[in-house]
Amino acid sequence: MNKNEPTPLFGGIEGGGTKFVCAVSSGPADVRAEARFPTTTPQETLQRVINFFQEQESKFGRLDALGLACFGPLDPRLASPTYGRIMLTPKPGWSNADLVGTLRTAFDLPIGFDTDVNGAALAEARWGAAQGCDPVMYITIGTGIGGGLLVNGNLVHGLIHPETGHLLLPHDWQRDPFPGACPFHGDCFEGLAAGPAIEKRWGQRAETLPPDHPAWELEAEYIALALANYIVTLSPQRIILGGGVSQQPQVMQLVRRKVQARLNGYVQSPQILEQIDQYIVHPGLGNQAGVLGAIALAAQALQNQN
Ligand code: ADP
Ligand code: ZN
Repeated sequence: MNKNEPTPLFGGIEGGGTKFVCAVSSGPADVRAEARFPTTTPQETLQRVINFFQEQESKFGRLDALGLACFGPLDPRLASPTYGRIMLTPKPGWSNADLVGTLRTAFDLPIGFDTDVNGAALAEARWGAAQGCDPVMYITIGTGIGGGLLVNGNLVHGLIHPETGHLLLPHDWQRDPFPGACPFHGDCFEGLAAGPAIEKRWGQRAETLPPDHPAWELEAEYIALALANYIVTLSPQRIILGGGVSQQPQVMQLVRRKVQARLNGYVQSPQILEQIDQYIVHPGLGNQAGVLGAIALAAQALQNQN
């Protein structure tokens, strides 16, 4: 960039199932304003978002681009007739909601739009714990399980976008008689290992289980099975594990050891054999990974003039 050009300023929106977080920022070191709104109807929620950015533009001047990193399923494919919309979702009122279209009626700006986890993967690759790595995988283990994927510098869309949280895993019914909680697949990865599955299986919220509870060994087993599958199919150069459940300190160590055990020396890479502590890591952007994901999508939209 020419050094006389002003640094671009972006509006980022992290669209979650319970809240929308908005920020004005040029990058991780410079977040100038932030606001949170509960997720109600798409109309009401987006109107609050629009009002917020219009106020910010009156303070900071015109923004250069907007980015929306949102819960899915959604359509991120630019050439698709339903680009910019949420797809069929059990969330009342949100199926088919035209999020990008609504933002476009208020702002004549490039707009980036992708899943929350693809946004987080991009932000971690640009500014966080996956700089210089490609492919990059970002996985969140929270209310649901989702995975974002950056390959050759691009976020993967394909048919729609990857749904790596719904991987089908071996399930030892004797060891774990819990049938799983995914409404579509029962005992897929999300059905067995997301926060609500832990709560249903053990009868208490995941964050209240003590560190030596057998829940964590089983949880780490499922996460490690999933990661071993991602490693042999996608060959990521780094895996970022985000979300509330991954904040349990013992989970990360157990997952790393179990991934090594499952792969059993087959993937002859020093990252796995010797440096797994730097290979499977927490988000470098901490709990800002979500909203900075939206800022990264805005930066990408400005580059591509979406
Ligand atoms: P969301 O996925 O809704 O954006 P989180 O990533 O915080 O938000 O996920 C919430 C889920 O993670 C809940 O099921 C909760 O019980 C679980 N959770 C949150 N924090 C922790 C923690 N520190 N340890 C274990 N589980 C947690
Ligand atoms: Zn599923």
